[in-house]
Amino acid sequence: MVQHFKIVLLWIFKLSGLFAISRLLTRRCFTIVGWHGVSFSNEHERLPAYFVSAQTLRKRLVFLKKHFQIVPLEDLICQHAEGRIKPRQVALTFDDGMYNFSARAVPVLNDFGSPATVYIVSNTMQERVLTYILLIQDVVFRTSFDATPAGLCQVASSCSLRDHAAKRACINRFKEEYLKLPEDQTLQKGFIAEFAEGLGVDIQDDLSSETWRYMFSDEIRTLSDSGISVQLHTHRHHDVVHYPDTIFQEARTCREHVERVTGKKATDYCYPSGYWEKRAWKPLQDAGVRSGVTCISGLNTSQTPLLALRRHIDTEYMSQIEFEFALSGLQWILYSLVGRNTFFKLQEAT
Ligand SMILES: [Zn+2]
Repeated sequence: MVQHFKIVLLWIFKLSGLFAISRLLTRRCFTIVGWHGVSFSNEHERLPAYFVSAQTLRKRLVFLKKHFQIVPLEDLICQHAEGRIKPRQVALTFDDGMYNFSARAVPVLNDFGSPATVYIVSNTMQERVLTYILLIQDVVFRTSFDATPAGLCQVASSCSLRDHAAKRACINRFKEEYLKLPEDQTLQKGFIAEFAEGLGVDIQDDLSSETWRYMFSDEIRTLSDSGISVQLHTHRHHDVVHYPDTIFQEARTCREHVERVTGKKATDYCYPSGYWEKRAWKPLQDAGVRSGVTCISGLNTSQTPLLALRRHIDTEYMSQIEFEFALSGLQWILYSLVGRNTFFKLQEAT
């Protein structure tokens, strides 16, 4: 009901010209849009916070192409350094470097002639590596069971799967258990195999499919050669809050690996899991990082710190009108007025 009311209100804003006025008022700000996965089939239906469909991505690009100039992130960083931002610009970014970026997102980007940046987790590109964290989530949404068996994967008690909230809680419980494992693909694969079997889900096709794997280094090199900017998302997806002692090493190792593969400079960083804090800036700078994107929604100006750039994360949950509301700058203006900047100030993870 609240969501329905919101959508009606947004349409009224749009039809009364408020979106257009806001785009005009905020034209000297720049926006960075972030995505994670683009579905091979219907992954976005089960995991809409991570995947969008290719159709949704296409719709977003039609809108962006009509109202903005889609530019490389590099251009925005150069203009930021000069203190002079050109009007109506947006940059596109994709996190994690999964194969679906190359197979599903890039063809859409090419149709629109749109530049983009992909942030790579560098320990995934030498051999076939799957994202078992996402597969755990997918199994939970595919099972017909209404609870997990007690003792499954060392989790002593049974977890309810009766509704969406229970499934989210169950995912978090098993993710926690999974993250205790050493970084060993065989052990991790054993965990997901036991988990899926315990919930009656056949994942044989998943394990051999392209859906859950990261890109190999030769695929990354091909993308880089074609003009995609390949940048840094740490070596092991270690965030700066939970792994503060590894910030420098994670960024530097990732940088070395990416630069070796692409033969180009990689100095732009994406904070894993959106966690960030100012204390990370020094070790990141020491590792040669010049910019960092967060998951804090909002517009950027020439005053926004380069190591704390705001970014609008798009998901399949978001309707087209909500996306246009956010990108118009009206969301930023309203929330800044109502919340006195509470919603968009650069909050640090604690
Ligand atoms: Zn990530």
